[in-house]
Amino acid sequence: MLIISIDKPLYTVIDVNDAFLKATNSTREALIGNSVFTAFPASPSDTETKNVERTAAVFDEAIRTKTPQKLSHYRYDIPVPGTDQFEERWWTATNTPVLDENGEVNYLIHSPVDVTGFHRVTERDRKDEEALKLQRQQLFSTFMQAPVGIAILKGDDYVVELINTSLCQLYGQSPEDMIGKPVFDSIPFTKGKGFEEMLNSVLKTGIPVKGDGASVLLVRNNVLETVYVNFVYEPYREANGDISGVIVIANEVTETFKARKLLEEAEERARLAVDAVGLGTYDLDLISGEIITSKIAANILGFERPVPRADYVAAIHPDDLPLRNKAHEEALKTGHLIYEIRVIWPDKSIHWVRLEGKVLYGDDGVAVRIIGTLLDITDQRKAMENQRKLITLVDNSVDLMSVLSLDGVNSYINKAGINMLGFDNAEHVGRVPISELHDPAHFAQVERDVLPTVMGKGRWEGTMLVRHLKSGEIFPVYNNCIRIDDPVSGAPIAVGAVMRDLRPEIAAKQALADSEQLLRNITSAAPTTLWMSDKAGSVTYVNQTWVDWTGREYAKHLGSGWLHCIHHADRPKVAGKLTGDIANNGLFELEFRLNHADGSTHWCMLSGQPQYDIRNNFAGYIGSCIDITDQKLLQQQKDDFIGIASHELKTPVTSIKAYTQVLEKMLQRKGDIKEAQMISKMDAQINRLTSLIGDLLDVTKINSGKLQFNDSEFDFVPMVKELVEDLQRTTEKHTLIEYHARVGMVYGDKERIGQVISNLITNAAKYSPQADKIIITTSLNDNELQLCVQDFGIGISNDKLTKVFEQFYRVSGDMQHTFPGLGLGLYISSEIIKREGGRIWVKSEVGKGSTFCFALPLRANSPDKKSRKLNA
Ligand code: ADP
Repeated sequence: MLIISIDKPLYTVIDVNDAFLKATNSTREALIGNSVFTAFPASPSDTETKNVERTAAVFDEAIRTKTPQKLSHYRYDIPVPGTDQFEERWWTATNTPVLDENGEVNYLIHSPVDVTGFHRVTERDRKDEEALKLQRQQLFSTFMQAPVGIAILKGDDYVVELINTSLCQLYGQSPEDMIGKPVFDSIPFTKGKGFEEMLNSVLKTGIPVKGDGASVLLVRNNVLETVYVNFVYEPYREANGDISGVIVIANEVTETFKARKLLEEAEERARLAVDAVGLGTYDLDLISGEIITSKIAANILGFERPVPRADYVAAIHPDDLPLRNKAHEEALKTGHLIYEIRVIWPDKSIHWVRLEGKVLYGDDGVAVRIIGTLLDITDQRKAMENQRKLITLVDNSVDLMSVLSLDGVNSYINKAGINMLGFDNAEHVGRVPISELHDPAHFAQVERDVLPTVMGKGRWEGTMLVRHLKSGEIFPVYNNCIRIDDPVSGAPIAVGAVMRDLRPEIAAKQALADSEQLLRNITSAAPTTLWMSDKAGSVTYVNQTWVDWTGREYAKHLGSGWLHCIHHADRPKVAGKLTGDIANNGLFELEFRLNHADGSTHWCMLSGQPQYDIRNNFAGYIGSCIDITDQKLLQQQKDDFIGIASHELKTPVTSIKAYTQVLEKMLQRKGDIKEAQMISKMDAQINRLTSLIGDLLDVTKINSGKLQFNDSEFDFVPMVKELVEDLQRTTEKHTLIEYHARVGMVYGDKERIGQVISNLITNAAKYSPQADKIIITTSLNDNELQLCVQDFGIGISNDKLTKVFEQFYRVSGDMQHTFPGLGLGLYISSEIIKREGGRIWVKSEVGKGSTFCFALPLRANSPDKKSRKLNA
């Protein structure tokens, strides 16, 4: 409480109580005697309240009315002692005038109450209220302007109590038309679509209902349209919790919905397209390394269904792994992945796969995924491979191959063609019209005949003349043209040609003709005839000499025609021999008489040598035919001479022998032993001479077919034994050892067979001068008897073995010529054995000895032998 003097405008403080001092942070000394306004000046921060003026005015009013005046709730800041700061304070003060006995105002009692605390509380309330008001306003405008449609529907008819602009727009209505009316009156096409039931349920149960993408039929701007809406129905509760309506929150999603639909359709189309072309798809997470693949992708990589990435990698052909790794590195730089590799399926088959992909990057620019496609390109690769092979084939062909466009220019010619026609290179081909590639004189025919035929019939082939671009040389080719049609439309698109250069063929034919002519000239100049046959023995060629000899034209000798010229008596022999030898495909020689053109008959020696083709199959004969008439004549003269000479020698030698024997006996009787021995040696030489003459006579008989046989049955082994005994007497050096089987009776000429045995034993002794034994063996073998004479002498070389049985043949060599002989013994022996129906042969080794054997059939008295004898 202050007691204040009424000395306006000072209002000096007269007294103050402690409570005031405490409330105002002041001291008694600072206040008493001072103006109250000096003690409590206005706070410079308080620019509004005008507290000094208002306080002074209240003081004035109390003095004037002489009644207490209250100033409520005013700000009067008080100074903070020791600072120039003020403390905000709010006060309610009563100013009571104290009257004196005259009723005049004596002084004022100023009693303020500090209401700062109260002021603060009320001030906050006021502000809260204002904020609330503002908030409500803002809320409403938010509600009205919210992009989401909101409405409150009340009652069973769902009368619109409140609706915002968005929802009105959604419904295509104005708020005035809707507020206060049942909602379905405004949007009649939504009636009966289930919305009422949903609202009812919310109203009844209080459980919100939600709808996503519900289609609603609405008339907006006079247009009936389907819109898609996401909505929520929430219960509207009164303060007491009762549900009195429904809050509708709705949001049109037509655009999103349509967009999503479009997206789904696009995705579906893409998926169908991907499936249709057999594209597999994958999504590779580069961070985790995991891959998601479609079933088709898994199938392409050889798996039934998707498998982990490691399994896919394991299926890659090891040779292609580096390629794939490189492609991945490259993809991280370019953003695009592409490569082609081989994969090995579980059944070990190899498939080509093309992978493509797009790299996706995260916000920080790091690659995070690759998504893309896989395609099985095995067939494509195979086709490419086949095409490559085809191109290689075409490029390496020796024939020209070309494709002619319908504009008359070649679009392609292979390397062979470029060389054949003298193009510079492949580019040059396209610049040269085909007219320049032909003989100008013949090109008209190409245009008139070839091209129309190809276009019309699809094909033309034949010879044509083409022209070398550089040299201008015109040369023939064999051309095979075909029309190439479009596989789809069937329309002709080009003409393909394959041309063979005929020059090498023509040159080869000429060379062949030349060499044939040369050969003909050579063979015709030969003094012998030459002939050829095919493998069936049919004559295919005779030379001019044969034609000249026979006087028949060439063609008449072909096949078996040549046999006509053979002396009719020899013809069967020749024909038989030929067919026999052809069947064996053996080398052969044959003598026959040939009728010459001039009517004379000539002896010929025909020889044939089998020919074999490159596969070593018998292909026929090539042979010659030599005129041996002169030889035959000489041989005949020789045979005649030998016959006459030996015959003439025989009689004198026989009488010499007789006289010698008589002489020897006479000398023995006289006792002239020495002379008798000399005569005995002379007798031995006469024996040899007789034997030689005998041989010569035998040969003459054989050659003239007059060798006589006196066949009879005889016991074979005793005959041999007797013979050996006689021969053992003539040789001291060799012991004749005999081994005999039981042979029994034999039918034949005993003398002649004995002659053979003695000849073999004599030879054995003669040709084994160093040896001391000769082994004679008889044996039985099947139906024949065998006799062998084995010596241990000089032997005979292999190549001479068959020849020793020939007439006058004697083995030549260092040793042989020292042995006397004519080379007739074995010839006569073999002729005898042959005529007895047997065989004769020899086995020998040079330096070790020889074994001569013969075999005779064991057919006593056989009719065979009788007929043989007649023939002989
Ligand atoms: P030759 O009167 O010359 O003995 P051959 O016809 O009996 O006539 O024999 C022909 C040829 O066969 C003989 O000249 C001889 O070279 C050879 N030859 C025959 N027998 C034998 C044999 N046992 N050992 C070796 N060579 C033989």
